Amino acid sequence: MTSRLAIAFQGAARTVTGSRHRMSFGDRSWLFDCGLYQGHREEADRINRSFAFEPAELDGVVISHAHLDHSGNLPTLVAQGYPGQIHVTTATGELCSFMLADSAFLQERDVSHLHRHHPGKPVRPPLYTPADVEQTLTRFQAHEYHRPWELFEGVQVQYYDAGHILGSALTVFEVARGAERFRLGMSGDLGRPRRRILRDPESFPGVDALVLESTYGDRLHSPSADTEKRLSEIVKRTLERGGRMLVPAFAVGRTQELAATLHDLTERGAIPSVPIFVDSPLAREATAAYTRHPECFDAETAVAFRERHGEPFGFARLRYVASPEESRALNDRRDPCIIVAASGMCEGGRILHHLRHGLPDPRNTVLFVGFQAEGTLGRRLRDGAESVNIFGDPVKRGADVAALDGFSAHADQAELVGWVRALKPAPRRVFLVHGEPGPAEVLAGRLREAVGAEVHLPALGEEFALWN
Ligand code: ZN
Repeated sequence: MTSRLAIAFQGAARTVTGSRHRMSFGDRSWLFDCGLYQGHREEADRINRSFAFEPAELDGVVISHAHLDHSGNLPTLVAQGYPGQIHVTTATGELCSFMLADSAFLQERDVSHLHRHHPGKPVRPPLYTPADVEQTLTRFQAHEYHRPWELFEGVQVQYYDAGHILGSALTVFEVARGAERFRLGMSGDLGRPRRRILRDPESFPGVDALVLESTYGDRLHSPSADTEKRLSEIVKRTLERGGRMLVPAFAVGRTQELAATLHDLTERGAIPSVPIFVDSPLAREATAAYTRHPECFDAETAVAFRERHGEPFGFARLRYVASPEESRALNDRRDPCIIVAASGMCEGGRILHHLRHGLPDPRNTVLFVGFQAEGTLGRRLRDGAESVNIFGDPVKRGADVAALDGFSAHADQAELVGWVRALKPAPRRVFLVHGEPGPAEVLAGRLREAVGAEVHLPALGEEFALWN
């Protein structure tokens, strides 16, 4: 009997969260990404706790990058019996070590918060504990870009730079059956060319089938010069009113890009010089990791920046806020300032107490610089909600709300199509994941026209034979 290659989509199918794809070849199976599903508490908890397979029976796990929607459920997998290694790039391993620890910490804190505020009500235990995270990190196996390794006999893997966040990878699986080869490419999250810090996304030699993200499949991002102009206007308007700017942002990637941009704009005199607070211990650690890996930077932009302004992330007007006391003390300040805090979609983290405090004040602005998934507090605010619930209490919105998509770390429609067109030969089949149905359908149409591929929008749990 010949071995058959198949893929089952068990997360990020017709949605942007909880990436999890299970592949099988003959009697071996492996998981590509093991992300946390983020959304309504109970639904998310159920999805994150249950795998559609027996973790103990998996033969391998390969991770694309450190964002929690791609790596954040690894400790659950290990706690439920996954016995093997977890393959990552070197920088991804470093980022995961504190991102997973932080995720465990936040879960424990949420549970104790619920216990305190709803005594007597049964509360589910955290998904995983710091001990599960420690166990998970011992399984990590780090790889460099462009150096192929064998996942097991007959399956070779190679990472390329995805240009999305530090350490992010495009992954190619080359599966061998006798002299025949089948190549399966995974985009993970695809970054964008011409960014301030990271290198442009790479290409890889043609693949037979491609799994592609589609977050912005129906949209074009504004050019970066326009984005910076609008950012300057929003900052100036807010500061002139004597307000503060609150920016919910992912601690890893967006925060570093934004910090470098605000620094540059201030140095160029485009915005007034005010204190900038990055209120996230995680962002502080992530920034340190960025600084340790200058080899991942875009040589041209990073060198030019350094010559103009010195280090892109460490400058006098920017302060990394460490302790919760210092974070709360920001609320007592009277002078205008900029506060960048996690989480990016306002589903937890320190941004919540800044919003509770700052949202009613009409002098302030809440600025969104990243994607806001359906069902999140960030999405409700961005869609213009007049009042939202924070920590169980209604908070009226007086502040302005603005959104800029130019800081996105995800390729837009033209960049996605351009990236696929550059693959030679073109993939015969493309599977679109990590996108809501609307954007994915629009992108599917564009790709059918551009490369003539057979394009699928897999449903959750759907399995496809790739190579019979
Ligand atoms: Zn990502």
